Amino acid sequence: MEINKNFSDDAFKFNYEKLEIHNKKQMKFNEAGDCYYFLLNNDGLPEAQQKSWFCTKTISLFDKHIEKTYLYGMQYHFHSPSEHSIDGKLLDLELHIVHKIENKYKVGVDSQFSNGVMGFLFKCMPESFFLEVNAKNPDIDIYYHDRFLSDMVDLESQRMGKDQRPLDLKKFISLLDFNRRWTYQGSLTTIPCSEGILWNVLEHVIPITQQTLDKFNSFRKIEDEQVTNRVEVKALAGDAKKTFNW
Ligand SMILES: [Zn+2]
Repeated sequence: MEINKNFSDDAFKFNYEKLEIHNKKQMKFNEAGDCYYFLLNNDGLPEAQQKSWFCTKTISLFDKHIEKTYLYGMQYHFHSPSEHSIDGKLLDLELHIVHKIENKYKVGVDSQFSNGVMGFLFKCMPESFFLEVNAKNPDIDIYYHDRFLSDMVDLESQRMGKDQRPLDLKKFISLLDFNRRWTYQGSLTTIPCSEGILWNVLEHVIPITQQTLDKFNSFRKIEDEQVTNRVEVKALAGDAKKTFNW
């Protein structure tokens, strides 16, 4: 992986004010139980109506003839531990938001990419870290992302089969440095392997507390048991893993 440190993505726009979770479409786990994910309400809507997207010039690093592209959110999911490593070390948690690429760029015609994934890395930090940052920079809300994840788990636990209010990722994104990220062309691990994934992984490692990671993992275990007991959902998750193994 290469860090494009001098790359300034002035086309970068990120809109996730409507990160809606579609109750009927959401699926929790893949077969291995190593991640769970939610489909976004966007999926299937015409591009003009899609509310979760990002725009980036990153694509021009690989497809020289394309200046920028829009990528539309399909689903998001988590891996714990992370899939990417830094200096050979895995991190505690990784969030992937999976997108399809703008319609006018098609694989094999205009672009080598079919999809784009935005990745966020999280690492458990001791209480002393948070206190230190707070003391040095009282204006920085160092607990923001930790609270976000913790609230997300709480909302999911209380869902009880009902649709949930949209998650607002605007602030979540605004507190991160988007121009420092790993970007690379990755392949699907399943057929058709020729398709490409435009990976964007933020270099900024987001601190979380051990309590939040514990909460996250215990929620995951409960969901895992429920899914194991529901054959239909398990079959769906199995299909999805074939399609979304990234
Ligand atoms: Zn993933």
